[in-house]
Amino acid sequence: MTGADSLVVASWALMATGLLTFAILWWVSAPYGRFMRDGWGPTLPSRRAWMLMESPSAIGFLAIYVLGRNRLEMVPLVFLAVWQSHYLHRAFVFPIRMKERGKRMPWVIAGMGFFFNCVNAYLNARWISDAGRYDTSWLSDPRFVAGVALFAAGYAINQHADAVLLALRPTDSAVYRIPFGGLYRWVSCPNYLGEILEWGGWALATWSWPGLAFAVFTFANLAPRALSTHRWYRETFPDYPPERKALIPFVL
Ligand code: NDP
Repeated sequence: MTGADSLVVASWALMATGLLTFAILWWVSAPYGRFMRDGWGPTLPSRRAWMLMESPSAIGFLAIYVLGRNRLEMVPLVFLAVWQSHYLHRAFVFPIRMKERGKRMPWVIAGMGFFFNCVNAYLNARWISDAGRYDTSWLSDPRFVAGVALFAAGYAINQHADAVLLALRPTDSAVYRIPFGGLYRWVSCPNYLGEILEWGGWALATWSWPGLAFAVFTFANLAPRALSTHRWYRETFPDYPPERKALIPFVL
């Protein structure tokens, strides 16, 4: 089996895990944030948990990327920039901006996030800088152009939606309020919608099995959570806007 073959097999395994994750999360909300509860073992502060979970996606990806044969080629470098535009923020800026007074996360959730991000970063970085073949003509391929445009749209939606949430809380508080503005007009979780669009765009732009596996996993992880979050908003706030959907405007 070649190196590329083993990445494809591992990507299929990741997609299968995504389907299992979807089925589990359909019934059980992952215990962090608004769904944090007792009974999940030892915990750590949320901010530290986010940095721990997400740092392999930034640091690990870069470490694997620089070992690849194609690391100095134009298209892989563009992909590196696209990936890191998301993950430098997610791993090191987002956790610092969180207002998480006293909030904690179970080690088991942080550990699973860490493990997933190690595997995912490895597969995508290996593909981009080593197994995949991209010459500069790929930059004008419609899949690349549409994929990067989708990623950029998702990035903007995700960043705006997270910024709205982070601005809802007074400093040093953990209260929840109804978010308004931007896509919150139509859905309860535009941050998850943006994230799903980002990695769908990544899959299209890289036209790769690891990219597809990550997009599938992101949907499997976030769609059930969007439904649970939507239900939670409706149950918690009697004046919650009735026309709002969970994840996809006018649809779901
Ligand atoms: P949430 O929307 O649950 O929370 C984001 C932040 O906003 C948290 O600090 C949360 O606090 C706070 N917050 C949420 N709702 C409110 C509200 N109504 N009022 C005040 N504050 C609020 O998102 P997640 O924590 O699940 O995810 C954070 C980011 O990570 C998102 O952009 C998401 O897309 C991304 N992500 C990506 C995944 C992937 O598979 N690619 C997996 C998981 C997340 P608190 O923590 O106290 O609830």
